[in-house]
Amino acid sequence: MIEIKYLKKTYSTISSEKFRVFDDISLVIHDGQWCSIIGPSGSGKTTFLNCVAGLLHPDEGEVLYEKISIYNMKEKERNNYRRLQIGFVFQDFKLLPHYSVLDNVILPLYYDEPKRELYSRARNLLTQVGISEDLFNRLPEGLSGGEKQRVAIARALMANPKVLICDEPTGSLDVANRNKVLEIFLQLKQKGLTILLVTHDEEVAKQGDVTYRLNDGQLEEVGGNKL
Ligand code: ADP
Ligand code: MG
Repeated sequence: MIEIKYLKKTYSTISSEKFRVFDDISLVIHDGQWCSIIGPSGSGKTTFLNCVAGLLHPDEGEVLYEKISIYNMKEKERNNYRRLQIGFVFQDFKLLPHYSVLDNVILPLYYDEPKRELYSRARNLLTQVGISEDLFNRLPEGLSGGEKQRVAIARALMANPKVLICDEPTGSLDVANRNKVLEIFLQLKQKGLTILLVTHDEEVAKQGDVTYRLNDGQLEEVGGNKL
């Protein structure tokens, strides 16, 4: 379970005033739940996901993962939370351009496990997300948007995380690829993964158990059917 309590985040502006992104956001995400978040561009969705994933320190409030406050953890512990419990799918894939598809997928665990096992797991994951073997040794620049996104999902699953956090995972995909990615998420949910997903696509949001809208610094439940 992830409990988000009274989360506040501001950014400093050039005039040294504080720009408020959100205040007092509270949310509970249960194990195995798929929680969708929609909201206009600039409403703080990415900032919120980064706070939940332990990538960005909120100004106030807490994120509890299995009852433990991640911002009270020592840095090493928080890094492990981020690396091992959470799979993060970034808005712009963030694949490393000079590494092959296969190496991009194993990189998060490069120093943790024997390479043979990592490569074997990476191959399985890539196959699961529909990446064919002839693409394994390609550089990311040789992939389509849909392929890049699926490689990014395979990488996020490499540590066998309990939670998948996705920032607009279908934002740049055509309908066919969007449907493929959606199918992968539905399968992952069936396997028990907890999903926190930001999207502009109401059809994608609706697949979740609950939908919230982030707007004007507040999170409001809009439900799956009311969209
Ligand atoms: P969304 O993902 O909903 O589009 P973001 O979380 O990226 O929104 O951004 C929310 C607001 O915070 C935007 O107005 C954006 O310009 C601002 N912002 C985002 N990152 C930073 C930063 N590192 N420094 C200052 N302002 C930022
Ligand atoms: Mg964003």
